[in-house]
Amino acid sequence: MYCGDSRGTDIDHFEPINSSPLRTFDWMNHLLACSSCNSNSKRDQFPCDANGTPLLIDPTIDDPYDHLRLILSTGFYRGNTPKGKTTIDVLRLNRGDLQRGRELAFPRCQAMLRDYLRMQDSGNLREATKMLNALQEQPFIGVLHAMFRTAPNPGAEIVLGGAEVLEALKALNFYTG
Ligand SMILES: [Zn+2]
Repeated sequence: MYCGDSRGTDIDHFEPINSSPLRTFDWMNHLLACSSCNSNSKRDQFPCDANGTPLLIDPTIDDPYDHLRLILSTGFYRGNTPKGKTTIDVLRLNRGDLQRGRELAFPRCQAMLRDYLRMQDSGNLREATKMLNALQEQPFIGVLHAMFRTAPNPGAEIVLGGAEVLEALKALNFYTG
């Protein structure tokens, strides 16, 4: 739910039990997380602003894109709001292994999208479907989501690495422009 690095091994109480005991058994307060995010980064932290509004992005309510921007070329997240900035700090979303993983996931996504398009164009639908499944199941899926979100923007072709990548995103109906 937080870093996108793995399939998750732990159940995190988004609002920690010690500060929100009434949410202990609230289903939407149980988030799948990796042990690194749960035990090493977030732990019992739950920062709020002066009005008591939580400063962590809640993946069950918030759209992370409202608060975070992923710089595709470097793999770094930038916080656009206090909530985004605090989430990056508390969950250490720019820690070295995650940044590097996202940096490498970007060219991998580009290559897979180009391959998908070529298979689709040559009528090899079975292989195209396999490629699509592989694309959707890979770690650091946030990179692919950021690519979809970038596609409608002016100059997206350059940011995304070429016309084929953009065309593949359009073919997948994730293009919203
Ligand atoms: Zn994690």
